[in-house]
This record gives sequence, C-alpha cells and structure tokens, in this order.
Amino acid sequence: EKEPVKVLVTGAAGQIGYALIPMIARGVMLGPDQPVIIHMLDIEQAAEALHGVEMELIDGAFPLLRGVVATTDVAEACSDVNIAIMLGGIPRTEGMERKAVMSRNVSIYKAQALALEQHAAADCKVLVVANPANTNALILKEFAPSIPEKNITCLTRLDHNRALGQIAEKLQEHVSDVKNVIIWGNHSSTQYPDVNHATVTTSSGEISVRDLIADDKWLNTEFITTVQQRGAAIIKARKHSSALSAASAVCDHIHDWVLGTPEGTWVSMGVCSYGSYGITPGLIYSFPVTCQNGKWSIVQGLKIDEFSRAKMDATANELLEEKSLAYSFLG
Ligand code: NDP
Repeated sequence: EKEPVKVLVTGAAGQIGYALIPMIARGVMLGPDQPVIIHMLDIEQAAEALHGVEMELIDGAFPLLRGVVATTDVAEACSDVNIAIMLGGIPRTEGMERKAVMSRNVSIYKAQALALEQHAAADCKVLVVANPANTNALILKEFAPSIPEKNITCLTRLDHNRALGQIAEKLQEHVSDVKNVIIWGNHSSTQYPDVNHATVTTSSGEISVRDLIADDKWLNTEFITTVQQRGAAIIKARKHSSALSAASAVCDHIHDWVLGTPEGTWVSMGVCSYGSYGITPGLIYSFPVTCQNGKWSIVQGLKIDEFSRAKMDATANELLEEKSLAYSFLG
C-alpha cells in the first residue's frame, strides 16, 4: 500500500474548507488508491468549529483517511506536509478597502511562509487560494526560499473551469469535450479568459471554438465578462462566495499537477513567470501549463494577437502594482 500523503488545509473551518475536506478524504484530489492524512489549521476564534469538522471526518468513516490533525498551532499544522492548500485569510467584507485586505493578508502569508519553510516537507507543493491569491503566493515564495519556487502556485483553475462551462453551455456540448481555454494573469477581474486556442471534440473531430462560435462579439465581450464576474454573480445569488466549485477546482489543480494532464490538454495555473510571453519574471501569473511527473511546464509558442496582448499586459500591470503595494506593507 502507498504511504499516506499529508495534506495541509489552512482556513479549514471556512466554507471552502467544508466543501474541500471531504473531497480530499474521498480520494478526489489524489486518486482512489492514495491514503491521506489531513492537517487542518484555523485561527483561535474558529477552533470550536474546526473541532466540529474533525468530528464529522471521523463520522465520515472514509477508507482513505489515515489521520486527522486539527489545530490552531501553525508549526504543528505544517509539520512534514507534502501538499499545502492555503484557504486561510481575511475575507473582503463590504466596505472594506482593497488595500486593507491586502495589508492584512500579506502579513499572514509572510508568517505562514516562515512556518512552511521550517516545518513542511522539503518538496512540499503549495496552492494559494485566499485572495489576493497571486500576490499572497508571491509573498509566500519570497519568504520561503528553501521551498522550490516552482512548488508555489495559486488557483486560477476555477476561472478555467468556468470558461469551459460557458463554452459548453453556449454550444450545448458536454463540458468534457471542451478543452484548452486559457486564463492569463491575475485571479481578479482583470484576468483574461482566452478561447483562441480552445477546441471542442465533435463527431467530426476536434474543431476550434472560434470556428464553432461565429459570434465574435459574444466571445470578445460577454463571454469574457461573464467569466470575470462569475464570482460576484454567485455571491449575489447565494449570499456567500463560491465554495463547492472552488473546492472542486482545488482538487483539479492538485490532481493534475501531481498525476499529470492528459495528452493534448493543458490547464491554467498561477505559477512563477520566467519571462514566457513577455511577462515580467518573478510574478505569479496564470499561464497555460501541462504537467508530468509532478512538474508543470508552460505551454510555449502560442500565437498571441493584438487583442490578447493588450489584455495580458493589463493584468500583468495590475500584478506589478499589487506587488509594490504588498512590499510597501512589509516595509
Ligand atoms: P472561504 O472559505 O469562502 O474563502 C477562503 C479564501 O478563498 C478567501 O480568501 C476567499 O477570497 C478565497 N476565495 C473564495 N472564493 C474563491 C474563488 N472562487 N476563487 C479563488 N479564491 C476564492 O472563506 P471563509 O471566510 O469561509 O473561510 C476563511 C477561513 O480562514 C476561516 O475559517 C477563518 O477562520 C480563516 N482565517 C485564517 C486566518 C489566518 O490564517 N491567519 C485569518 C483570517 C481567517 P474572497 O474573500 O475574496 O472570497
């Protein structure tokens, strides 16, 4: 039998955590033959709720679940973890300034970087979900220099999945037949969902989405804004932000990173830029990637038209601004 993998979830008593943790325990994230030990971290105020989740995990009688650590101690939570899912952070509440959210989260991510650096497994894979996700990941990368920088990523898979879903709905096709959309840039409203390389598998082979959807106007306007603003639409409808789809996307991100992407398919991940597509090196930027043997690589050589270029640069510029703002808080 395989050795159990230790998975840390921070902010585990929150709403994404509540949807995510049973998925991990059921093998959705790492496969049906991979035992797991789940480490759950939350803050003191959430300790009792966290204990409730711990009791429910016991009651789930999950065959793959080999252990649970529920704690408010960061060092204990990070101890020897192989995978770290960072959900914990100050949520943006109504009337709260973006700057204020950023300042508090940047200091949280600096502290958690130090804890992961000291206590996690040396090759720990990190996925940051809490917003501003790209910039939190950037801070984590800077303050955990002993973790390979390629192991620090942020979530844009939900945006990617939302784009697949919109195309499938428009064409009335199965979502599993749509592939190779791209989310470029920041997990924010400046992200650029790009369909120029996306295809649909039909009875007559693989056909490009641009050929199937002749309505350029829809693709260049409504499609993009629907994906960019989907999170807000869900908050409006549910009165809470997306949780089940966010949790599912977290599983997809880690699943594909660890177990590989299917031949001919890429996914979107927020990863460290090394200058591909002219994006400033060092930023955590969402690119199309393929994964093999636990490593991602950016899909190279895609043709970028002028429309895309402008949108990719705009979201890169926002990330540069967020970076300098974040550093100004760290003094
Ligand atoms: P959620 O579980 O709903 O969200 C967690 C984080 O994920 C938030 O930062 C949220 O950003 C982000 N997020 C939400 N939806 C998406 C999405 N679709 N795509 C990407 N990111 C998304 O928040 P809760 O408030 O329910 O839970 C947060 C937990 O964190 C709580 O249990 C709390 O106790 C804990 N916490 C931990 C802290 C720490 O580690 N020091 C500090 C403060 C809280 P957004 O707010 O923009 O939706």
